[in-house]
Amino acid sequence: MYETGTAPVTYLPGSGWVDLPADIAPALAGSVSCDVVVVGGGMGGMAAALRLAELGQDVVLVEAEICGWGASGRNAGYVTQTLGSDPRILKRFYADRVRALHRFANNSVDFTESLIARHGIACDYEQTGNVATATSLRAFRRMQRHIKPSPRVIVGDADTLGIPETFIGGIHIKLGGILNPGKLALGLRGVVRASSVRVHEQTIVTNVQDTGSGVTVETPAGQIRARRAILTTNAFTNELSIAPRNLSTPVWVTAVETEPVSEEQLDATGWTSRAPITTNHFVMQSFRTTARGTLVTTTRSLQSARRPRLDRMPDQSVVRDIMRGLHERFPTLEGVGATRAWGGWIGLTPSNMATVGQLTPHIAYSMACNGHGLPQAPYLGTLLADHLAGNRMHDDLSAVWRESQRFAPGVVNPVTLRLGWLADRITDRLSGALR
Ligand SMILES: Cc1cc2nc3c(=O)[nH]c(=O)nc-3n(C[C@H](O)[C@H](O)[C@H](O)COP(=O)(O)OP(=O)(O)OC[C@H]3O[C@@H](n4cnc5c(N)ncnc54)[C@H](O)[C@@H]3O)c2cc1C
Repeated sequence: MYETGTAPVTYLPGSGWVDLPADIAPALAGSVSCDVVVVGGGMGGMAAALRLAELGQDVVLVEAEICGWGASGRNAGYVTQTLGSDPRILKRFYADRVRALHRFANNSVDFTESLIARHGIACDYEQTGNVATATSLRAFRRMQRHIKPSPRVIVGDADTLGIPETFIGGIHIKLGGILNPGKLALGLRGVVRASSVRVHEQTIVTNVQDTGSGVTVETPAGQIRARRAILTTNAFTNELSIAPRNLSTPVWVTAVETEPVSEEQLDATGWTSRAPITTNHFVMQSFRTTARGTLVTTTRSLQSARRPRLDRMPDQSVVRDIMRGLHERFPTLEGVGATRAWGGWIGLTPSNMATVGQLTPHIAYSMACNGHGLPQAPYLGTLLADHLAGNRMHDDLSAVWRESQRFAPGVVNPVTLRLGWLADRITDRLSGALR
C-alpha cells in the first residue's frame, strides 16, 4: 500500500480552499415572482444572475447549498485557455467552428481576469500561464511538430520550461494562471449578494417546468414564477426531470494538498519556473503551488456515477495514487506527505466541451464545462444572460451553442475510466522518464 506521508490526512466534505461562510442567505419560503430565475449558484449561475441584474432584470438565484459550494469552490484553480476536447474530435465533428471555439476559450480567460479585476476579488491570482506536458517522448515530438511557437507559446524540453525532467517536455502557454477558487467563488458571491439579485441558499430546486407563458420552479417550501429560467446546475442537472437524456455524466474529481514545501525543496526538484503543470494523460494529473506554501495535485483517477452524491468524500485509495503520482514526478519530495483531500463533481459531456442551449422556449441552460469551467462557466453565464436580455448572440456564445437537445450516449463509465488509468500507467512505464 502506498503511504501518503506520516501525518494523518484530513478528508474534507467540501472545499479545501476556504471555510464556508456563516452568513447564509435565507432559504426560499412561499411564492415569489421575477423576470429570470437562475438555478445553481456556481461561477456560471452567479455570473449570469449578476449580468442580468446589471441589465435591469429582476433576478432570483436559487442554490441548493451555498453559492460556490460545488466545483466552482473546489477546483484546482487553473485559469486556462484549454478547450477540453481532443483535437481529433474537434477536427472530425466541429471542423467548421474549431477557430471560433478556440477564440471562445481564449476570451474566457480574459473575461475571468477582468471579472476579478473589476470587482477587486482577492483570490491570490498569479498570471503564471500554464504548462501542458507530454508524457512520452513520442507525444513530445508530436507537440514539437504541430505547435507553432510564439512569444506566448513556448515549446521546449523540461530544462527549457523549468520543470522537473520527469515531465520530458511540453508547452508553456503564457495566458491565464492560477488562483484560489474558493476565494474567487466566495468573492463573487459577495458581489452578487450586494447586488439587486435575490439570493436563496439551502434551497434545492426539485422541479422546473415551462408553462407555455413562462416558468414555474418548485422548491421544498416555495415556488418561483418567472418569465424565464437559466439552469446552471452542472453535474446535478440530470437530477431534474426536464434535463435531456445523456446531457452529461457526473464524474468525481479528487484534489490533494501537501504539507508545506520550502523554496529550496522546490528548487531541488528542478521546478524552477514554478509554473502550474498538467500532463497529457488520458486522465491528466495537475501540480501547482499555492499561496500558503503547499502543493495541490489533482485528478489522475476519475470516478463516474449515475447520480452525484452530495455527501461524497475522496477515496483513500485515490488519494494514495495521486500522491504516488506526485512522488514519481517529483522524486526529491518523497518525504512530503498529504495533509488534506477533497473532491467535487463535474459534468462530463461526450464532446468534453461546455454545453449551452435552449431546453424549451422559456428555459435555457449553460453547464458541463467539464474540467475547464473556472474561466468558461462565468463567461458563458454572462454571455447567456446578455442574450436572454435581448442582445445579439455573441460569436463566442454561438460557437458553443447547441441547436439540438439530443446527445449521444457518453463513453465515460467506471470501466472506461479504469482502462484509461491503466493505459496512462503503461505510458508512464514505457516513457522511461519515471523511476
Ligand atoms: C477537483 C476539481 C478540479 C477542477 N479543476 C479545474 C481547473 O483547474 N480549472 C478549470 O477551469 N476547471 C476546473 N474544474 C472544473 C470547474 O470547477 C467547473 O467546470 C466549474 O466550476 C463549473 O461551474 P458551474 O457554475 O457550471 O458549476 P458548479 O460550480 O458545480 O455549480 C453548480 C451549482 O448548482 C447547484 N445546484 C445543483 N442542482 C441544484 C438544484 N436542483 N437546486 C439548486 N441548486 C442546485 C449546486 O449546489 C452547485 O453549487 C475542476 C473541478 C473539480 C471538481
